[in-house]
Amino acid sequence: MSAEIIDGKALAATFREQIAQEVAELKSATQVVPHLTAVLVGDDPASAVYVRNKQRACEKAGIESTLKRLHAETTEAELLTLVKELNADPGVHGILVQLPLPKHINETAILDVVDPLKDVDAFHPENVGLIVQGRPRYLPCTPYGIQQMILSTKMETAGKHAVILGRSEIVGKPMAMLLIQRGMGADATVTICHSRTQNLKEIVKSADIIIAAIGQPEFVTADMVKPGAIVIDVGINRVDDKLVGDVEFEGVKEVASAITPVPGGVGPMTIAMLLKNTLTAARILSGNASAK
Ligand code: NDP
Repeated sequence: MSAEIIDGKALAATFREQIAQEVAELKSATQVVPHLTAVLVGDDPASAVYVRNKQRACEKAGIESTLKRLHAETTEAELLTLVKELNADPGVHGILVQLPLPKHINETAILDVVDPLKDVDAFHPENVGLIVQGRPRYLPCTPYGIQQMILSTKMETAGKHAVILGRSEIVGKPMAMLLIQRGMGADATVTICHSRTQNLKEIVKSADIIIAAIGQPEFVTADMVKPGAIVIDVGINRVDDKLVGDVEFEGVKEVASAITPVPGGVGPMTIAMLLKNTLTAARILSGNASAK
């Protein structure tokens, strides 16, 4: 039997409607309109598309969005100055620095300066620390979206073996933290694989939940998947002008019980969670955190 396709687009639309309603309620109760400022340095076309999509989604949800576009030769000092200005601006609730930054800028140095309360990507060490301690302020958008997708399958995750492919700071590592925490959609036993992992195929084959985030087109094939596993494909790879994930979708969907497509899977949920975090930031910064 073919797997259930987890429709990230449809699920994201449901979240976005709910967020739009909560944004409208916050506005009518407090006059506060959540405001996200995105910072885009240089002219990487993929980054420009991501930022545009995020801005459009904000507008549709009633969230104000501003784009600060800087040229590719912007210095680290100039970017730091801009981030500090945004930190100090009471009208800005969320700051998103689109990655990757040009090579001459130290990404960590920039991300460390973002006000943790405005850090809607949850990349700041303070926010990462809170996640590790199981008391998150914000959850990083991609793992957060994946958590919601897994919850949508109603599959019991407690005690299940989740194998994450990839150990990046934005996907793999925080995903592991979410899956091992106590509670709904978590309580899993987690293994993280990376480029130095030995016996990777065997490890993946033992997974009840596979999360592929390595940026290798169609790396996970049907023979690596245990029948009935949930397969979440985070990868976005351009091959012959087509977008493909890290999972060989056609083969794997015949083995898995649920699978996310690319495109239309994790991507739209990532954006929906960014909106959710921006709304949370606006509540926290305006002193309305108890409103919801
Ligand atoms: P990174 O490049 O930061 O990390 C990739 C990870 O995969 C590294 O840990 C690397 O290992 C590991 N890896 C690479 N090749 C192999 C391999 N052959 N076997 C095992 N492990 C491997 O990537 P990101 O986490 O930023 O992104 C991963 C993918 O997800 C990309 O395709 C990206 O475009 C996509 N993405 C999609 C998002 C969405 O919203 N849908 C959001 C973010 C990312 P090592 O550490 O040893 O080098």
